[in-house]
Amino acid sequence: MINIRSRQEIEQMRQAGIIVAEVHGLLEKMIRPGVTTIELDEAAEAHIRAKGGEPAFKGYGGFPASICSSVNQQVVHGIPGNVQLVEGDIISIDTGVQLNGYYADAAKTFPVGNISAQAQRLIDITRKSFYEGIKFAREGQRLSDISHAIQECAEREGFSVVRNYVGHGIGTAMHEEPQIPNYGQPGKGPRLKAGMVLAIEPMINEGTYHVKVLSDGWTVITMDSKNSAHYEHTLAITEGDPEILTVSNAG
Ligand code: MG
Repeated sequence: MINIRSRQEIEQMRQAGIIVAEVHGLLEKMIRPGVTTIELDEAAEAHIRAKGGEPAFKGYGGFPASICSSVNQQVVHGIPGNVQLVEGDIISIDTGVQLNGYYADAAKTFPVGNISAQAQRLIDITRKSFYEGIKFAREGQRLSDISHAIQECAEREGFSVVRNYVGHGIGTAMHEEPQIPNYGQPGKGPRLKAGMVLAIEPMINEGTYHVKVLSDGWTVITMDSKNSAHYEHTLAITEGDPEILTVSNAG
């Protein structure tokens, strides 16, 4: 069953979402050659707690940190550590916040210093595929219309869509129904209704879509060691345009 949230509940999620967006803004300023991912994680956790939230990822399934920091060929679920970022890296930061019982979740990929044109193109197309997808995040569309539009956008550019990890409903838990693949035929799955809140999150690879999990039990990497990028927002289906909830007051 897909939960339908009231205006008041969506406002609660927006308050959590503002904190998520602030974390991305804060980390964007910190990301540069020489910084470690553990420093990013500590700054994220401090900000979330200062705003009265809880880092939703910390302890989730035993995950040890408040952000997932996934560098280059790491797709998702990278664990922050003492390795310094290097000029030319790309880093995906995924984080979630729980505030007053409501959740928000978002991810973005950032450049570290100057990056290759191809790496920048991967970041740009991953973001673009999200916005192509949410053109279909409207009442009356079917869920897989979003999935299909994301896949079309990524593959048209010669990139591939990760199959093993998907977007999700979100609300009073971080992961609720439905699962939202970033690929597939259109016209399938439930019809979208106002009040559904979805975390849509294309994970797009430069090369093969095949991935594997490292022996740490968390870090997902591409099988061909080529780069991967991630772009996610939490959004509410409305009677009109979808409302992205993981944006800061500053915009
Ligand atoms: Mg998510």
